[in-house]
Amino acid sequence: MDVRGSLRDGAFGSATGLVCRECGATRELGPHYACHDCFGPLEVAYDFGTVTREQIEAGPRNIWRYKALLPVPEDIESSPNTEPGFTRLLEARNLADELGIARLWVKDDSTNPTNSFKDRVVACALSAATELGAKVFACPSTGNLANAVAAAGARAGIRTVVFIPSNLETPKQVNSAVFTDNLVAVEGNYDDVNKLASEIAGEEDGWAFVNVNVRPFYAEGSKTLGYEIAEQLGWRLPDQIVIPVASGSQLTKVHKAFQELITLGLVEDKPYKVFGAQAEGCNPVATAFAEGHDAIRPVKPDTIAKSLAIGNPADGIYVLDVTRSTGGAVEQVSDDEIREAIVLLARTEGIFTETAGGTTLATLKKLVATGALDPDLETVFINTGHGLKTLDAVSGSVGPAATIAPTYDAFVASGLA
Ligand SMILES: *Cc1c(COP(=O)(O)O)cnc(C)c1O
Ligand SMILES: [Zn+2]
Repeated sequence: MDVRGSLRDGAFGSATGLVCRECGATRELGPHYACHDCFGPLEVAYDFGTVTREQIEAGPRNIWRYKALLPVPEDIESSPNTEPGFTRLLEARNLADELGIARLWVKDDSTNPTNSFKDRVVACALSAATELGAKVFACPSTGNLANAVAAAGARAGIRTVVFIPSNLETPKQVNSAVFTDNLVAVEGNYDDVNKLASEIAGEEDGWAFVNVNVRPFYAEGSKTLGYEIAEQLGWRLPDQIVIPVASGSQLTKVHKAFQELITLGLVEDKPYKVFGAQAEGCNPVATAFAEGHDAIRPVKPDTIAKSLAIGNPADGIYVLDVTRSTGGAVEQVSDDEIREAIVLLARTEGIFTETAGGTTLATLKKLVATGALDPDLETVFINTGHGLKTLDAVSGSVGPAATIAPTYDAFVASGLA
């Protein structure tokens, strides 16, 4: 992507540059995602100065309350965006009883503007794309990202083009197509779509691919999940957190958020364990964790958890680092366990999650069973998306208990009285 001649002052807030996760080399802020020296992934670096709880609490009830900790300008609230975030953190007492856990919370990100956590990352990517003078806002997506990009682009009045695997669930396709004329269904899996996007990003000028050439800015949006959880717990960190893994970006950024809060003195320093959740049908990180490998062997995804179906996850090795260094784990569950967990969350807490949330809850259950997760410690799990987008996953296992004539007698005969 071409960069506007000069960036305006403070275009990226207190961000100071991009730094390579592998070798520490630095680069100027811009549409860059790979290190000049070693091709490692770039990450945003900051000089925060002082940030206080009062300053954050006085902000809006969306992710921009944390704007001082994000690569966005001070006047970000005046740019059109979908204003995601500050979603509910619910104590899940019924579910905790069912699983034998002392204290359990659900961070429910299904209530974001396009019903997944992706609105957070897209809001940050849109800010970067706008500051860099992008003409097109685009992404390769497993579904939810395309929904978020298409909606945010519509509000910002910028052209959007979103690419998805052609086998995606119909509700996720419609949830993009309603916002944009340019939904492109690609005959291939996500990894094929991603490769195509990188090629287009290299060829076309002015295209900001949220998770490719502005990925460092996009990824920072996931930190807001970590900030919110800490603030909503009363400026405390949980003991354990369970997070789904697709590319692995969200998990690593929640950890980065917790570390920043500690460094800034906004929460007390304490140990916490980070756990990753994958489906058996797309388990490259869980497999590497189980086998003690440092490298990720890519897989061909085949699972109902399509939003997590990335066979070659960009941040997989960093998920291994975070889960290992905090004493957590990466676990995997079957499609049947995912379906059961979707119904379990609905029946215990009144929350309808998509297959990604089913994966996360099923993994939590498994981690309790294996003893990796301590049921006596305070635990949070993230519900990243809404069940109405993946209805097919459970439409075969739930439905009417009876179909009856419209008479009282028929109702009594049904045995439901
Ligand atoms: C994209 C997505 C994830 C995982 O995101 P990564 O940051 O790529 O690991 C989890 N849940 C849902 C519903 C998603 O759409
Ligand atoms: Zn490097």
